Amino acid sequence: MCVFCGSASGADPRFEDLARELGTRLAEQGLGLVYGGASVGLMGTVADAAMAAGGEVIGVIPGNLMEREIGHERLTELIVVDTMHRRKERMYALASGFIALPGGLGTLEELFEAATWNPLRLHGSDPKPLVMLDVGDYWRPLAQFLDQTVASGFVKPRWRDLIGYATDPDAALAFAAGSVIH
Ligand code: AMP
Repeated sequence: MCVFCGSASGADPRFEDLARELGTRLAEQGLGLVYGGASVGLMGTVADAAMAAGGEVIGVIPGNLMEREIGHERLTELIVVDTMHRRKERMYALASGFIALPGGLGTLEELFEAATWNPLRLHGSDPKPLVMLDVGDYWRPLAQFLDQTVASGFVKPRWRDLIGYATDPDAALAFAAGSVIH
């Protein structure tokens, strides 16, 4: 499972709690975590929680970000790549679904790029589900805006429907594993 999230921890302590809970549940469900390989912010929190619960964690980080985001040294595997584009390509290829925890511009960019790969069929023969895992209504306006993109005739319902919304890590994992299609 690929997780996108902030390289900061955010202003609400519930963001960290949610990241910790997601990392733990991933490991408990025997699902490997793929993420951006940093030790800072929610990225570090989700990885630490998954490792602490005995999970498999693969980080993918560009060499030039190793210092700024402080590459995580205690993962199952840390893959260092040349560029941001290679990082995303590698993360997407390693995962069958995506979960976005609260995050900033990078998180938004990754969520939307991975979403655009569904209609473009760049993820392979099958589309890959994505889900916004929320607390404190951080993602709520974006979920509403995505409905607007459909209502305005720019996004087909089937592609919008592949971007789920959940407030519970288990529900997010079920959606991103493709077992809940709404
Ligand atoms: P942020 O949500 O902005 O804290 O960033 C989360 C992750 O996305 C970090 O690992 C950033 O390095 C990464 N990131 C930031 N900008 C981009 C971008 N344009 N493309 C891909 N990843 C990015």
